[in-house]
Amino acid sequence: MTDVSAFLDAIDKLPAYGGFTFRGLGDAEALPPALGVAAGVLATSRDPRVASENFRTARVLALLNRTGRDISRFSAQPDEGEVVVRPGSVWRVLTSFEVAGARPTFVVLEDLDPSHTTPEPTEWGDSLAETRERLTRVIAEAVAAAPVAVASPGKFVGPWPVQVPFRVVTDDSGRRVSTRSADDRPCSECESLAHSGRHEPYLVDDGEQKLRVWRCSMCRALWLETEHAVIPATDERVGGRGARTR
Ligand SMILES: [Zn+2]
Repeated sequence: MTDVSAFLDAIDKLPAYGGFTFRGLGDAEALPPALGVAAGVLATSRDPRVASENFRTARVLALLNRTGRDISRFSAQPDEGEVVVRPGSVWRVLTSFEVAGARPTFVVLEDLDPSHTTPEPTEWGDSLAETRERLTRVIAEAVAAAPVAVASPGKFVGPWPVQVPFRVVTDDSGRRVSTRSADDRPCSECESLAHSGRHEPYLVDDGEQKLRVWRCSMCRALWLETEHAVIPATDERVGGRGARTR
């Protein structure tokens, strides 16, 4: 058993964390894609000041967790308020906003929990507007607080490493075609499967949110079934989002 799988087995015994956390996005890093699957274990913090190393980053990810694990009480630095994002968790971008007095732009991401096994989060509020208000309060408090000592630089600041699914779309002549780039290609097995309209078992199957993602067991490529393309959601669209409509 690798260290990572032993660690994941251990944290899986903890209750799922359903609150807000933050992660500083390094200034040279790409913005998160509209939908992505976490490609590794990621450290996040309940404190936006800790997560951004005293707001030094231009962008901070504000995460609405469902499947994270709060490991702060086992940490050598409990004040860091560390919550671990698990590999394989599925995240989509909801919106971004700014807070008076804080340098960064906050990009809000939702943990979709495709397995629907975690309890409904209670911290988020009932609408995106309320979520934003609550996040703003947390951030404003952190802005007003004294600078923190950065115990491990780079722990909470860095990239947002996620795998982005290939998309299958139907073209004008009714043919199913995939979106891919020259240096990023799925294997021929899953590509022909996708083009024929078939798929392996869904990793995400959320009809309501029009999200169907499966993974090729041979090349590990992710596929997004889209009669409807996945787009960054607007406030309107998110009015009836997961928190209430599940
Ligand atoms: Zn494949």
